Amino acid sequence: MSEAEHNNVTELAVHNLEALVELQRSKFRAEGEVTYETRIDRLKRLRALIVENKTEFAATTKREFNGARSYEFSLFSEFASKVEAIDYSMKNLKAWMKPEGRKTNKPMNFLGGKGQVRYFPKGVVGIISPWNLPFGLTVAPLISALAAGNRALLKPSEYVPETAALFAEVVPKYFSKDEVAVVTGGVDISQRFAELPFDHLLFTGSTHVGRQVMQSAAKNLVPVTLELGGKSPVVIGRSAKLDLAGTRLTFGKLLNGGQLCLSPDYVLVPEEMEEQLIARVIHETQSMYPNITENNDYAGVFNERHFARLQSYIDDAVSKGAKLTIVGADKTRASKDNRRMPLHILQNVNEDMQVMHEEIFGPILPVMTYADISEVPDMIEPRRNPLAMYYFGKDKTEQEYLLSHVQSGGVCINDITLHYVQEDLPFGGFGASGMGAYHGPEGFKNMSHARAIYSQTMLDVLPIIGARPPFGPKFRKNISKILGSI
Ligand code: NAD
Repeated sequence: MSEAEHNNVTELAVHNLEALVELQRSKFRAEGEVTYETRIDRLKRLRALIVENKTEFAATTKREFNGARSYEFSLFSEFASKVEAIDYSMKNLKAWMKPEGRKTNKPMNFLGGKGQVRYFPKGVVGIISPWNLPFGLTVAPLISALAAGNRALLKPSEYVPETAALFAEVVPKYFSKDEVAVVTGGVDISQRFAELPFDHLLFTGSTHVGRQVMQSAAKNLVPVTLELGGKSPVVIGRSAKLDLAGTRLTFGKLLNGGQLCLSPDYVLVPEEMEEQLIARVIHETQSMYPNITENNDYAGVFNERHFARLQSYIDDAVSKGAKLTIVGADKTRASKDNRRMPLHILQNVNEDMQVMHEEIFGPILPVMTYADISEVPDMIEPRRNPLAMYYFGKDKTEQEYLLSHVQSGGVCINDITLHYVQEDLPFGGFGASGMGAYHGPEGFKNMSHARAIYSQTMLDVLPIIGARPPFGPKFRKNISKILGSI
């Protein structure tokens, strides 16, 4: 295709995108109140979409991971957890939708003025999703969007074109185009998508692209939720049950080959516990994933670009003095055809190494040591505001110390990633790892407009307090009750 032809196609696509937003918005306006029954009906249709198409989506994702993606992992993380999220939303929706009565100020509180907050749908929500959980991270924000009464446009990642095409084929069987529609295409379409005049835009992806998305959304003052990444630390306390911590750390680190936003990125461990922790991680890696480069429960690195990136972190760290232990394979660094890469543990790491600054998103585990817990916040600071902080230990004082000295999107104590599947907890980042949240009541509120409604009494209130001109002594007396002598 020539460049001119390409530009024409893009222009046509963009024109269609704008028309799609306008179609959804006009239907939204015409609909008026989005009733509880309508929202439940949409959630039920989404539930049916998941249950009836899970196998095909799971098989497609496996193909897009070059065959190296655990089917069981997909079943839980991409499908079962989303069905649970829908059931949870349906159970709580009535309570979330209830208007909240609020107190009113003096003297209106005595005279019958009434305040309330009501949650109205925003309108049309755009959802941009990444490749690592291509079904789950497209559908999860949609659950909050539909529960809140919105319509939605979905833009799956261009790195999973088969999944995107399957979404485009399947979604119209469950939703009319004016309720939920799918946009496919390359990064140019994603860019244009982020510039559309949505009523809310939810982006899941890297911090780098998140910045660009926020700039695009700013053109139309579109409110954004950014679900980004970062370097989530694992702090092992001296009171930790070390074997259990090692098991859970290994499980969390190697889920999806380390390619989760919540993957533990690096570990901070008391210096005298370092070798014991590493021995446990090695043992657990071998027992969970025997023959790791061929193991069907283990995911490969998604593409060559990411594989080269990971190799460059390792080479850079080793050249600067890190000690490397490869677990689960002898000399091979990964299976050739689908890049199932063994776990690479790095010790003696320092701030000069790239691996300590970039989100790893793969099976590399840097280990840092500390002498006293008071050193830990400063050690984490160069990688501030990660998506998660993990703490292993029973020492409540230490736990509180970390909670108040280290900021992060969420926290999981004595486990890895499991705060994500607690539907009643908000999920989201903070600062570099994102803004806003979904899941739980916060997801509903995030996708709703909390509208303040004040209903005034029929009494003529202002003259009672002298607050309408001509102002006089009554007004001054009342105002001096608030401000002191005037
Ligand atoms: P990415 O940022 O490269 O891409 C994400 C999406 O952004 C893709 O769909 C892409 O089409 C789109 N995109 C690219 N450039 C764009 C632009 N200029 N404007 C608008 N959209 C654009 O991320 P990725 O490689 O697909 O995913 C990995 C990253 O996502 C990691 O950083 C990971 O931590 C993060 N992530 C975060 C969460 C979370 O919930 N917080 C979940 C999964 C992944």
